[in-house]
Amino acid sequence: MAEQNWSRGTSRRTVLKTTAASIAGLSGVGSSLVSLGRGAEGSDPQPVTDLEPAPAPNLYIGSNLKKFNWLVLLGNERESMADALTGYVEEATVDRKQKRAARESLKDIWSTIEVTSETKAWEEIRKQQEKRKREREDDRWQTHSGGRRRKQERENGPKHEKEGKTTYYALESDKSAVKRTLKGAESRVRKSKGVRTTSVSEEDAATLSELSDVIGSGMKDDDTGETEEVEPMWHPDSTHEKITEIAVNSGAKPGSLDNVTASDIGEWSKIPDNEERMDYDPAPEIFPDDIFPEEKAQAYAHAWNPDPVGLQAVTGPVGGGPKYTQKFMKNAEDNSGEDRFKQLAFAMHIIEDLANPLHTGAWFTETAWHRSIHRTYEKKVDSRFDELFKEDLEDIENLEVVTDPWYVLSKYDYHARKLGSDTHPYASEVAVAVHENSHPLEHVGDKTKQCMEWAEMYAAGLAAELTGYT
Ligand SMILES: [Zn+2]
Repeated sequence: MAEQNWSRGTSRRTVLKTTAASIAGLSGVGSSLVSLGRGAEGSDPQPVTDLEPAPAPNLYIGSNLKKFNWLVLLGNERESMADALTGYVEEATVDRKQKRAARESLKDIWSTIEVTSETKAWEEIRKQQEKRKREREDDRWQTHSGGRRRKQERENGPKHEKEGKTTYYALESDKSAVKRTLKGAESRVRKSKGVRTTSVSEEDAATLSELSDVIGSGMKDDDTGETEEVEPMWHPDSTHEKITEIAVNSGAKPGSLDNVTASDIGEWSKIPDNEERMDYDPAPEIFPDDIFPEEKAQAYAHAWNPDPVGLQAVTGPVGGGPKYTQKFMKNAEDNSGEDRFKQLAFAMHIIEDLANPLHTGAWFTETAWHRSIHRTYEKKVDSRFDELFKEDLEDIENLEVVTDPWYVLSKYDYHARKLGSDTHPYASEVAVAVHENSHPLEHVGDKTKQCMEWAEMYAAGLAAELTGYT
């Protein structure tokens, strides 16, 4: 078998020439791509190229802080976040008593719980995090399997030498004091609502569930004035369809589509957001119910978080995205005609979702609030897709080749995880940008563009693999 070449044709990737610069007002760090190809012997993936490092995230939330509702806690150190949250409370659709309680709760939290920030090289932060993660995993495996070490995916996975500086936020206050303060704050909002309850649970305090509801009710969509609906995806109206069509055109072998067209496949790639037409397994208990209560199974199937802080001690990565990518691609391989390409379209949808950082991180156990973040971001992306992203995606000449992992995972599963691990570091920054700015893409436009490019290239990789275009 010929050596697989991730870069089809002779011209090297030039797609990023317009990155950032084409988004007005962006102080863009150039974006880029790192790809893994397959070595000649077909075993260990080797980095084929590293043209430019991916942009470093501007903001990173430390794991101690992430155990709590860090968006709220951030207001202690970050004035723009404090202003934003105060504003949402003012806009909240609750009575004056509840608003006052929410305001006072925020004040208590910000005056009592200390958060620190430090700006340093992303590479340094990343190394620290991996070290901590290793230590945690060592603990876990010592407890559960007699000290045996599990091979770590991340160690062998894609590595980016990310440049640039990142602001790292950490919790400074003592954890038990934090819990006490949050319980007090949460119980104040409860009382203002007339909820009579004996005590606030640890989890309600950590996530600030009642306070979050008040904030969420004030976080309306700018464009429409609507509050949230459940749409935990890239905006389903057209983002998927457009990316898929572009990716099919670039990835599928010419003449391999039988009687279907790229636009059929684009159209079919919207179906996975219609739960009634799909058959997802129920999400595991551990996946928080209240994130997407109506569509829990679907939300789980379209997501994957490599490091869900607070849960990982028992579960490891959370989300069904990689599993479903594998499943739909296997179905595609086993089918012919329309069914073959419908299944491909489903797999492409899932991969595209995993390119959205909000599908690979930044999960909170809140209701309206969480969905507002998600929906707002996806609407913004969708509404400016043609203007900011379309041409760039159409210019991409390379794709991300599906490679065989050398350990237990199946190849499409692995493909999905590689992508999820890459988009995960941007999750906090996207969530913060959506809160603090009515035009978040002016702040996370370059990162979003990077993610869009990954979406296209990983999706094109699936089309290429299925049609033998490698
Ligand atoms: Zn989706």
